[in-house]
Amino acid sequence: RLKELEPLRDLPAVTSDGMRILLRANIGLLSDVRTAVANGAEGVGLYRTEFPYMARTTFPNREEQASLYRKILEGFPGQPVNIRTLDIGGDKGLPYFSYPHEDNPFLGWRSIRVSLDEEEIFREQLAGILLAAPAGQATIMFPLISCLDEVRRIRSILNSVVAELCRQGHDVCGGLPMGIMVEVPAAVQIIDRLAAEVDYLSIGTNDLIQYLLAADRNNAKVKQYYEPYHPAVLHAIKRVADVGQRMGKKVSVCGEMAADPLNALLLVGMGVREFSLSAPSIPLVKQALRSHSLRLCQAMARKVLAFDTACDIKRYLAKRRKELF
Ligand code: PEP
Ligand code: MG
Repeated sequence: RLKELEPLRDLPAVTSDGMRILLRANIGLLSDVRTAVANGAEGVGLYRTEFPYMARTTFPNREEQASLYRKILEGFPGQPVNIRTLDIGGDKGLPYFSYPHEDNPFLGWRSIRVSLDEEEIFREQLAGILLAAPAGQATIMFPLISCLDEVRRIRSILNSVVAELCRQGHDVCGGLPMGIMVEVPAAVQIIDRLAAEVDYLSIGTNDLIQYLLAADRNNAKVKQYYEPYHPAVLHAIKRVADVGQRMGKKVSVCGEMAADPLNALLLVGMGVREFSLSAPSIPLVKQALRSHSLRLCQAMARKVLAFDTACDIKRYLAKRRKELF
């Protein structure tokens, strides 16, 4: 089966009626670069930088980070690499960073909240990214955004790090495209205001589903509540896609949900034009896109968005799956 998909590697992801879709890779470690390229990824839509931090015994300084980020960027000449800042907390810890005990770590001190409270660590990472940026097409993305104040504070810190590096004679004055992850329900509610102040949006369905439905993404006991086909999830994604389209801001989906080829068709039908996937999922998703039309995707999305329950949606999609694949 995989051999069969190999010729697809260098073909574009385009629907049978000509809608171009971008398929990028989710990566964490330098070794993921090769797998991403081998599967035909058009750059990186989500580089989870916490993974290299985890594999160490101390915080890396800006030079150490820059040298790693440069290697990643060089793996994708001419293609964007979207570097996400540190996303620790929740279930991801660092062995050398003491973390307070929390009763609800996923509702606690995690992700961008840690970065904004530990500004020196944050500035060091921003400097590392800015120093590496000339090696490729870096963009920079911030996780777990829940309000506009965070975006403004991030921008002011980023500007201040750019100014500091410029003063030191580094060539970083242009700045980088800046995006946010949409993975907290509050961000969906104010998405037009957030979109106005950033360059692009990336929907993190793994966390968005967990927070919309109050169901821990890692807890088997509440697995039936963690429901990607809950109408609340699908309408939230649709809303973000619509606002992005209206405001001319790119919207991608980088959660696991898009790795299923039928889901990818559905999301395209809802207006998503860019995905970031674990690399081995790219060929099958590409094949599905190339075999079906945007019109079909849109008809499927209209139908799905009109249903009232996850159960109805799943019944309909199971039928479509049999017909289409
Ligand atoms: C997500 O939440 O969907 C996401 C892509 O980020 P992570 O899985 O790293 O939390
Ligand atoms: Mg997330």
